[in-house]
Amino acid sequence: MCMASQWRGGPLFVILTLLSLSLAYAETGSPDRRAAGSTESSVEVRHLQEQDGWRVAETVNFRLWHQHSHSLAEAVLRTAERTRATQLRKWFGEIGVRWEPKCRIYLYASGEDYGAATGAPVQWGGGHTDIRTADGRVIGRSIHVYGSQTFVLKGVVPHEVTHAVLAGRLGNGRVPRWADEGMAILAEAPAHIAMHLRFLPRWHADDALYPTRTLVEMRDYPEPHALGVFYAQSVSLVEFLTRQKGAERFAAFVRDGERNGYAAALHKHYGWNFAELDRRWRQHAFYEKNAAEPTSGGG
Ligand SMILES: [Zn+2]
Repeated sequence: MCMASQWRGGPLFVILTLLSLSLAYAETGSPDRRAAGSTESSVEVRHLQEQDGWRVAETVNFRLWHQHSHSLAEAVLRTAERTRATQLRKWFGEIGVRWEPKCRIYLYASGEDYGAATGAPVQWGGGHTDIRTADGRVIGRSIHVYGSQTFVLKGVVPHEVTHAVLAGRLGNGRVPRWADEGMAILAEAPAHIAMHLRFLPRWHADDALYPTRTLVEMRDYPEPHALGVFYAQSVSLVEFLTRQKGAERFAAFVRDGERNGYAAALHKHYGWNFAELDRRWRQHAFYEKNAAEPTSGGG
């Protein structure tokens, strides 16, 4: 697993996701039947005129540029709409207002095209979200994706759309990375979540994990060599805290943490100090039987 992100400064920030070879292997598992959500067929997709060699299709909140079949375009857009609705409801208890302008999604035909557009190295697939803000308000969302159909529909689109949903909602500036990535990974299909978590027990045994306070107070991603630990521990910690008092309480904890500091927010929302959080999270992650099977996937 290798994911990275960059801060480009100014009003634009970027959430970049790269996919490793091993994560791509998760796609060979059995299909996730949850994708056939009951509301999916009710999402209306319009196919528009081609623009500059791109096929274009749209729904209420998304406009997709692609070079694929109509059926794949419809599946991508319906996954995006479903993820948006699910994640808004899950973390904020609301359906939200229509995105204007629509969130753009670019589905590239090849890794070369994706790399040329995003500057990201890519092997098997990847995703990348740009958020534009003005005066602290989100004024534009763009998602760039590339990969196999399964990876795109089960992993990268739910992940990146979740970043687009969270943008501007947790704190005054950029969503804290650990929460942003942990929440986005929880939107992926279970097999993909499991791939993120697979080395966590080894890192625990090697004493390579972060103290939880260090993780939640990090201002940006760690060095590339530590990204695997960062992603795995982030998703595990978000899942653990969400389990305690629900997703909306977790979102409130992050908002308060960004505003008043995480020690105060942790005490207010969970009644713990960081030593207690560390102890309880590790107990959950490494000594409880069902810890590796998150139940809160929103994909
Ligand atoms: Zn991400």
